[in-house]
Amino acid sequence: MALIVAKFGGTSVASPERIKNVAKRLVKMRQRGDRVVAVVSAMGKTTDELVGLAAAINDNPPLRELDRLLSTGEQVSMALLAMAIEALGYKAMSFTGRQAGIETNGTHNKAKIVKVHNERIMEALACGYLPVVAGFQGIDENGDITTLGRGGSDTTAVAVAWGIGADVCEIYSDVDGIYSADPRVAPRARKLAQVSYDDMLELSSSGAGVLQSRAVEFARKWKVVIHSRSAFTEAEGTYIKEDSQMEEAVITGIAHDTSEVKVTIRGVPDSTGVAAKVFSGLAANAVSVDMIIQNISEDGFTDISFTCPEGDLSKAVDTLERVLPEIKAREFVVDKDIAKVSLVGTGMKSSPGVAARAFSTLGEHQINILAISTSPIRLSIVVDSAQATQAVQVLHTAFGLDSDSVFEETQLSAEEIAAKMAKGR
Ligand code: ADP
Ligand code: ASP
Ligand code: MG
Repeated sequence: MALIVAKFGGTSVASPERIKNVAKRLVKMRQRGDRVVAVVSAMGKTTDELVGLAAAINDNPPLRELDRLLSTGEQVSMALLAMAIEALGYKAMSFTGRQAGIETNGTHNKAKIVKVHNERIMEALACGYLPVVAGFQGIDENGDITTLGRGGSDTTAVAVAWGIGADVCEIYSDVDGIYSADPRVAPRARKLAQVSYDDMLELSSSGAGVLQSRAVEFARKWKVVIHSRSAFTEAEGTYIKEDSQMEEAVITGIAHDTSEVKVTIRGVPDSTGVAAKVFSGLAANAVSVDMIIQNISEDGFTDISFTCPEGDLSKAVDTLERVLPEIKAREFVVDKDIAKVSLVGTGMKSSPGVAARAFSTLGEHQINILAISTSPIRLSIVVDSAQATQAVQVLHTAFGLDSDSVFEETQLSAEEIAAKMAKGR
């Protein structure tokens, strides 16, 4: 008899029919003798719609109010799922983030979990209920509702799994595991049986939206085993856990991220302290700078480029409008049509030549490299967004990752697939 946390994402609970299917699946687990706690996301595109509603009212909505609004999405799905379980003759009880004991700091919109109180969930389990927890939300020390950042239900699931000492945290979504690349972008991607915490963290933080990177970080820290699997099929998925493989693959997978923009400051006087002024201004304005590229100076002037999330662009523009006259730079330009493609693999550390092979592969396909950054287990390359899909595919082939079979869509409608592709996060 296992103790399992089972998290179902937005697509898996997008309609009453799908919620009923989730309920059936949970009941089956109970009938098998397992104890199970469900965690749910908001139905379908609810969170996007709520963000849109807020934007229609206020360009810059107060984050406290935004969190209050966004948290309602998960409260709808949790109650509906509890009702669906009851309809099958089993006792269920839904819990908001507060009721489930998810205590966070007060950073609205991307709050961090500081404590998990497990009492109510344990009590509900002991009384024979199937607890259903609203993902993505918590409560801060003032009693205000917070949310954990987009995709944050994954983090709720891992935190609850740790809080109740679950054997495994099962994350159900519309793919049946972690692939060597997003299978909708690289249909020859292969499903991985196991991925180490380190590789998964690097993949998630480089744009592989299949798991929120904060969830992986939490799991790595507290050694929670994650099983990423399909909400629509029974197939075994991918385990994310401590590395048990003797030899690491050079490249585990390729992630891509279209959510960043590139800003280039032109005609920057090449003198000491200029970069410090630019980047301390950006930091003070809470702009998350990712890559930085400084070109060779000519005639005492240089160009500095950096990338940052598109969501931080207006703060970056404000900062640069203020700092540019101070440093006497000529102008700045913004390029939104970029994509970051990252090769990830713990084995990269001991395998020279990854960069050379990646660059020559892109060169052979006339894909221009706009920026590069590396970590010991990651090589990220910025390319024009129109070439991102091709870049992922040719690198996937060049590093021998292609599978013999082609990824097949299960259950999603054409509209849902289109929405996922457009989301680009
Ligand atoms: P949920 O709504 O259930 O949280 P997400 O949309 O957040 O699900 O995550 C699942 C999606 O992640 C898949 O539909 C897939 O397109 C995308 N994805 C990106 N990278 C990968 C990868 N390496 N392996 C599997 N899926 C990936
Ligand atoms: N509903 C939230 C979102 O869309 C949280 C989640 O789905 O994990 O980001
Ligand atoms: Mg998700």
